[in-house]
Amino acid sequence: MARYTGPACRLCRREGTKLFLKGSRCMTEKCAVERRAYAPGQHGPSASRGRKMSEYAKQLREKQKVKRIYGLTESQFRNTFARAATLSGVTGTNLLVALETRLDNIVYRMGFAASRRSARQLVRHGHVEVNSRKVDIPSFRVMPGQEVRVTPADRDLLTVRSAQEFAARGAPVSWLTIDTDKAAGRLVELPTRDAIPVNAMEQLIVELYSK
Ligand code: SF4
Repeated sequence: MARYTGPACRLCRREGTKLFLKGSRCMTEKCAVERRAYAPGQHGPSASRGRKMSEYAKQLREKQKVKRIYGLTESQFRNTFARAATLSGVTGTNLLVALETRLDNIVYRMGFAASRRSARQLVRHGHVEVNSRKVDIPSFRVMPGQEVRVTPADRDLLTVRSAQEFAARGAPVSWLTIDTDKAAGRLVELPTRDAIPVNAMEQLIVELYSK
């Protein structure tokens, strides 16, 4: 299935929680989840009120939520899960680690883009290097010890600088080191589950795909 290109806020309202897809807007009172805390659709707030979810529906919603947070298509997400399931350890955690170490996510976590969507665009347009070599594949897996940076010629791009200003207001994750002036950073180690700031019940996704 093709990548979703419709309104991002609709996805948050569908999942009933903030997915932080639009950068600084997500922190303002303009956030659609703050203003209309019910699922989208023509029937309005009463449509889903009081409806009990089945186990399958809970698993499906959790999968959709995580997939949408990271901006993946269904096949990309399923392939990532399939790889995570072959690794030793807890599959749900392996899945989140695989998602977190994607190059587009690392660029977002380092604060060089205001959202994962704009991080993907930054990568795709050739503005990002890994160990001083240009990489334009958003799904590129960053390994511990590798340096990720915005190319020196592009580090003063308005989108990069304004994203950095926005990111400076939040707490950085512990498994990355970041040099804001050089728009560069390094993946120090693979994150543990506790160090991944994503509100997800990944076990439900494992159950869904294990059927
Ligand atoms: Fe989601 Fe951000 Fe839109 Fe709020 S502003 S609904 S968090 S994308």
